This record gives sequence, C-alpha cells and structure tokens, in this order.
Amino acid sequence: MFISSFADLGDKFFHYKRQTYLFAFPLGIVICVLYILGSLGTSGIRVYIALAMIAELGVFTVLLLFRPRLTRVIEYILYISFTLNFLVLTQISIDTFLLNGELGPSQLADVLNSLSMWLIVFALGAYLTTDKAFVKILLVFIFMGMSLMAVHNLWTLSSLGLLNLSFIFRWINPFSSLALATLLFQRMGVLQQSYASTDSLTGLLNRRALYQILTMEMERSVRYAKPLSISIFDVDHFKSINDTHGHTVGDRVLKSISDLVGREIRQVDYLGRWGGEEFLMILPETDISSAKLLAERICCKIGQSQFEDVEHVTASFGVTIFGGGRGLDDILRAADVAMYQAKQNGRDQVCVFQEGSD
Ligand code: GH3
Ligand code: MG
Ligand code: MG
Repeated sequence: MFISSFADLGDKFFHYKRQTYLFAFPLGIVICVLYILGSLGTSGIRVYIALAMIAELGVFTVLLLFRPRLTRVIEYILYISFTLNFLVLTQISIDTFLLNGELGPSQLADVLNSLSMWLIVFALGAYLTTDKAFVKILLVFIFMGMSLMAVHNLWTLSSLGLLNLSFIFRWINPFSSLALATLLFQRMGVLQQSYASTDSLTGLLNRRALYQILTMEMERSVRYAKPLSISIFDVDHFKSINDTHGHTVGDRVLKSISDLVGREIRQVDYLGRWGGEEFLMILPETDISSAKLLAERICCKIGQSQFEDVEHVTASFGVTIFGGGRGLDDILRAADVAMYQAKQNGRDQVCVFQEGSD
C-alpha cells in the first residue's frame, strides 16, 4: 500500500511537470516570435537561433503530447540547448555593441544580468524536475560557458585598450548571483532530503527512507552474497501507556526507546520508525543468529530501562533474514509475522520467522 502511494506521488509530479512544460513551451515560442520581430534587420544569426528555438519547442510540445515517455530526454536536451543558446545570444549582443562602439558598462550589465537571470531559471528548473547528476552537469556547463565568455570578452576589451575596472565589476555580478543560487540549490537539496527521510518525533529514518534503504541493501546482499537481516519491533500495550499517562508521555517514551536502540546498534545498521509505536532495524551483513542475539539484547535493555514517567516498558521483536528469492514485501511480511508470534507468545520477547509459520 505504501509503495503504491509513492507511485501516486510520482504520477502527480510527472503530471504537474508535463503541465508546466505544456504551458512554458508555447509561451517560449511566443517570446521567440516577438524576439525575431524585434531583432529583424539587426543580426541574422540571432534570428536563426530564435527560429531554431521555435522549431525545438514546437517538436518538444508535440513529443510531450504524444510521447510522454520521452519527457526525460526532452528535458536534458532542452536545458543544455537553451543554456547554450542564451550564452551564444549574449555573446552576439556583446559583439554587436563592441562593433558599433557602443559597449559601455551599463550595456554589458544589461545583457549579463538578463543572461544570469535566465541561467538561474534554467538551473532551478533542472533542479526541480530532473535528477541530481544532470543538475551537476548543467551547472558545470553554465559555469564553464560563463567563464569562457568572461575570459574571451575581457581579453578582447584589453587588446582594444578598453578594459577598465567597471567592465570587470560587471562580470563579477552575474558570477556571484549564479554562485549564490548554486549554493542555495545545494542547501535546499540537503534540507529537502533530510525532511523527506526523517521522522519528526524521533529523528529516526522514516518509512519512506527505510523502504529505499531496504531495497538498496537487498540488492547489495544479492550482488555480494552477504547476509541481510531485519527486525521489526512493536512497543507492548502502548495504548495503555497513552491512556494512563497521556499522549505527551507516550511520545517521550517513543523518543527514549529510539535513543536507547540507536545506541545499541552498529554504525552500519539502520533504525527507523516504521509507523506508530513500531520500529524497523535493517542489519546488513548480519546472519539470522546474530540478528536474533541483537534483538534479544535490545529487548532486555528496553525491559530493564527506567523511563521518565513510565516505570516499565517492553517490546516484541520479529526477526527474519533475506534470501531464497523473496521480495521486499515478503521479507517485511515475514518480520511482521514473527513479531505477531512474539506478541502471541506473551510479548517482551524475540521471535524468528520460520518458513510455513503463516
Ligand atoms: P500491543 O502490545 O498488541 O502492540 O498493544 P498496543 O496497545 O501497543 O497496540 P495498539 O495497536 O492497540 O495501540 C497502539 C497505540 O499507539 C495506539 C496509538 O494511539 C498509539 N500511537 C501511535 N502513534 C503514536 C505516537 O506518535 N505517539 C503516541 N503517544 N502514541 C501513538
Ligand atoms: Mg504495540
Ligand atoms: Mg503496533
């Protein structure tokens, strides 16, 4: 059920992304047409570039409508080609100003500010819609393009004897805004990542992150032929803790348990909140007997611990090992079955999943 809710989220994201492009592409065509009308009679190359952009946007719109599977490829080509086009158009403007002897600091500032604004828009668009690896490529592309242009233009100005401090300053401006925007994207990414993968009460990994990690660890386990065990544990009679002491105390108990278990597991193990008062431990390179021993140790620790407001808290553990061609849902269900077995056997104990026990 949880996996399908992610699929829904993915579908929605894809839907909005497509909608945005289907709005932006025709708008881009209109802007290009206006641009052509405005620059007729100035420089032929500009008109050709704008025509190429119209053609590109037209083809992309049609593909987006009839071949939505190509969206990813369309995005990659779009961001790289538009970045390149804007760099070239800016260079043509600078060259024209130079040729006409009109290149003053304010003309340069105008074209560069407009360029950097659009480059930031492209980088943000790529950041919001594509993947991390592509954003990196695009940012490197943008910075290399800008640097080449800066070196080329400053060199030309200096060989013409026109270079002065205000031209240099005009180049620093777009670089700083791009650098700052890049830094902000990076921070946003880190924050988003940690919000998306952390449970707010306990600070542990949330269910979403656990799913991702478990999938990855299962792949690793198969590839390197290493054992992988997991354990689900559930706090016993937690409802009565809430009923007796209140929800806030219940929350504190959950936090204390997660801190306690967090201290017991190894650095390479993963602990997360599976939901409510249920937790999941992912134990890479751990065979079933070591996993059982660890669960028993933690079960004892919880049982013996003094909690702030609640004297005695216990939990029931289900342990299982990945293997035998089982999938993600199978291994989770196996741990769940074992955990319910532990509940049925009287709680405050560890049960290992046995084939055929359900
Ligand atoms: P069992 O031993 O069979 O697991 O009994 P239980 O009472 O722990 O299980 P049950 O599923 O009946 O109750 C779980 C309770 O956990 C009910 C729910 O209100 C409470 N709970 C779930 N999430 C939270 C939370 O974030 N904070 C608090 N305080 N309580 C929560
Ligand atoms: Mg419970
Ligand atoms: Mg429960």
